[in-house]
Amino acid sequence: MHTLDDIVALLQSCENEEQFARLQEEALATTLREIGPEVHFRGLIEFSNICSRDCFYCGIRKSNKKVERYCLSAEEIIELAEWSAKQGYGSIALQSGERSDPAFIDFVEETLRQIKSKTRSAALLNGLGITLCVGEQTKETFQRFFDAGAHRYLLRIETTSPSLFRQIHPSKQSLQTRLRSLEYLKEIGYQTGTGVMIGLPGQTYEDLARDILFFKEFDIDMIGMGPYLSHHDTPMSLYAEENQKNRLHIFKKSLAMIAATRIVCPKINIAATTALQTIDPAGRIDGLRFGANVLMPQTTPPGFRRNYLLYEGKPAMDENAEETRLALEREINEIGRQVSKNRWGDSLRFYEKVRSASGSPPGK
Ligand code: SAM
Repeated sequence: MHTLDDIVALLQSCENEEQFARLQEEALATTLREIGPEVHFRGLIEFSNICSRDCFYCGIRKSNKKVERYCLSAEEIIELAEWSAKQGYGSIALQSGERSDPAFIDFVEETLRQIKSKTRSAALLNGLGITLCVGEQTKETFQRFFDAGAHRYLLRIETTSPSLFRQIHPSKQSLQTRLRSLEYLKEIGYQTGTGVMIGLPGQTYEDLARDILFFKEFDIDMIGMGPYLSHHDTPMSLYAEENQKNRLHIFKKSLAMIAATRIVCPKINIAATTALQTIDPAGRIDGLRFGANVLMPQTTPPGFRRNYLLYEGKPAMDENAEETRLALEREINEIGRQVSKNRWGDSLRFYEKVRSASGSPPGK
């Protein structure tokens, strides 16, 4: 059992080189012992930047009139999904701005069904594994998406500190509603993912340690978290200078968050996110060294990608290109890890919980 103070100490080790190295070693040893050397890829499809929310930190917030809005067609999304399946990725992550209008819900539901039916093959008997990330929805909508084939859902809590949450969101959005959404996801049977932004103005080590205790207490299955990076067309650009100045520290704190989360929740899936790569080109590989086991290579077509700027400096990530993909695999092999092929790469913690009830895991 890790206490708040234990976790704070783990996180603070990012301020001392020797302690930071020890934290990295412990997190990596935990990863290899508990879940093994495999790294799971999810082809990331950012299929729309249309958003009905106005989060103060996010570049694609509704009020940012400078953003050119787009929504890929079902055919385009399915093509990208099929491409990911051909690369052996085994899973995709479908992400967009948040909408809850009936047309959007019908569109996502139908697209999910088609992806599942069109990616069945000898290598993937149950089609691609799908992680959905389209924000807060009603329980009924979450259920429809689940029935259509999404079996993992990522909804970041962003921060578990009530005062910080209030500072970074309009008053209409609440921590309670987000928590309720996470409960719904769990009740429906999704592998439930969450995460936080690291380096928010005023955020303390205690806040971050409480976030990790929340992951543990909620018994979360997967985590996607990374540094907060400022965007000039958002209300939080007020803090842009401070954010820029502290990037190296925020980067180290983010790695410490991954490591401490791995130590406290050893069997969950943890993604090394693009935001890490934004600060350092090798950031995602560092994320793997500190305990992550999932990567989300970009598959959004480059023309749309530049309109999905949540923060500044997001790398171009030409990861569709054969040589970039091979280079990524090579870097993963160089740190003694392997990319899993044609497998969903589900959370072991999830199956630990349901094993007695459900028998062997579905899919591959
Ligand atoms: N609308 C969906 C949702 O809210 O879950 C998915 C898209 S949303 C843009 C995905 C995530 O991007 C958010 O949960 C947030 O943590 C992250 N994000 C947005 N702006 C960011 C920023 N400036 N720096 C780092 N992460 C950011």
